[in-house]
Amino acid sequence: MLKDTYQLLINGEHVESSNGEFFEAYNPATGEVLAQVAKATKEDVDKAVSAARTAFDSGKWPKQTAAKRARLLNKIADIMRSRFEEIVRIEVLNSGKTVAAAQGQVMQAIEDFEFYAGVAITSGGKTNPVPNGFFNYTLKEPVGVCAQIIPWNYPMMMAAWKIAPALAAGCTVVLKPASHTPITAYILADICHEAGVPAGVVNVLTGSGSEIGPYLTEHEDVDKVAFTGETETGKDIMSRASDTLKRVTLELGGKSPNIVFDDCDIDGAVDGSLFGIFYNTGQSCEARSRLFVHEDIYDEFMDKFVSKAKQLRVGDPFDKNTHIGAVISEGHEKVIDDYVKLAVEEGGEVVYGGKRPEGEEFKDGHWYLPTIITNVTNDMRIAQEEVFGPVVVVMTFKDEKEVLQRANDSIFGLGSAVWTKDHGKAHRIAAGLKAGIVMVNNPISAFPGTPFGGYKQSGFGRELCVETLDLYTETKSVLAYTGAKPVNMFGL
Ligand code: NAP
Ligand code: MG
Repeated sequence: MLKDTYQLLINGEHVESSNGEFFEAYNPATGEVLAQVAKATKEDVDKAVSAARTAFDSGKWPKQTAAKRARLLNKIADIMRSRFEEIVRIEVLNSGKTVAAAQGQVMQAIEDFEFYAGVAITSGGKTNPVPNGFFNYTLKEPVGVCAQIIPWNYPMMMAAWKIAPALAAGCTVVLKPASHTPITAYILADICHEAGVPAGVVNVLTGSGSEIGPYLTEHEDVDKVAFTGETETGKDIMSRASDTLKRVTLELGGKSPNIVFDDCDIDGAVDGSLFGIFYNTGQSCEARSRLFVHEDIYDEFMDKFVSKAKQLRVGDPFDKNTHIGAVISEGHEKVIDDYVKLAVEEGGEVVYGGKRPEGEEFKDGHWYLPTIITNVTNDMRIAQEEVFGPVVVVMTFKDEKEVLQRANDSIFGLGSAVWTKDHGKAHRIAAGLKAGIVMVNNPISAFPGTPFGGYKQSGFGRELCVETLDLYTETKSVLAYTGAKPVNMFGL
């Protein structure tokens, strides 16, 4: 149930911010205010970090058996399942995303907890071959207090991507959700407590990232920062964390290429390319926003692509038939529109969209039509900078070598996709792409278990997979002597 007020969650209790201030959470599809949300101060950061520090240094949590941690993770998933419809509804209300998108994302969040329950009980140290008379084993120990900062595009899913592996490893957490979408992180943290996670292990602070973020990421009692968001914010965080050499993982922006060869299943590639860019109103880090179409099929592909884009229904996020929901904010709608204007100034041609949809139902919220821009070259700003909205640029290509060079000509390297019936070619392209994720004849970028993360300025570290646990643990090498005679290295 949606509450009127959401308070900070520190040491297992909901508390006011130190100065009693709030900000408003609203529905981007209607502009309606949903709730008042506590606005944390630096003093609150100190309190939350201190609770997480104490829970880590003196509490039972980091020493719990893996079996117990796994049981708790499964219990969190069970409670989330029992509240599925309610969580989906609140996610839609606060993000403006379609109900179909929210259902998929909340289900994935649940499965993340189940996945990491399995990882918790199957991960651990190992023994290593060493000379006779010695014995070496490694211990995987939780890294400590983790500051986890997440964006607004997948609020519940991003919270799960962060909290689930941290809990599986035995870490404690201060989670900072995005100010546009603060509500479902509180629901998840309350569920963690209901499942039996001890006080202080999961703390949530809402409030301005630019005000409390730098303080949190510099804080000397924080051991690790896990951040998902814009590349520029990630750079700032990395430099701030450097003074105390915190462990840092960064999941940042993208400008992902989508390569359609002339020997593909054209209808499948059209549908997959539409989903690849317009899912979640284009507000996806791995949105395939640079579409490269082989020149021999360009006309046929574009006829189908544009005509199907026109069939995408923009509107009420709660209508099951809606494909495209709202844009997150007025400011973001302007960013998207400014990028479209820039593309036109650069010589691009808008063949569909390029504006807000018209009609009474769009009067109050923030919206943008799916937008297709042609006559673009890869060096234009519209082809190089992340728009983070429903805007795709389309270019043609002639051959493998040339398209690979242009696909890789970007500061980013997060997602990528290739469409062809030639399996050899598909995997040559997959090997050549400088990207953390390659989708072959498929528009879905990840499931729990598949690594998610970027090359180049899309960040580093991989989430959603078994290896993520390495990012939440330190490896301790214990080297023991087992010989009968003492080790006498100086020979004295
Ligand atoms: P953002 O503006 O960088 O904000 C992300 C989070 O950082 C928010 O919680 C924000 O708080 C906080 N923040 C802002 N300034 C900060 C600072 N100086 N220090 C510490 N924290 C700070 O990103 P966004 O606009 O929410 O999200 C969109 C971006 O996320 C896109 O670039 C997208 O590509 C990226 N993304 C990447 C992935 C991935 O896995 N690679 C996944 C999803 C999204 P406030 O909300 O209070 O400002
Ligand atoms: Mg932002």
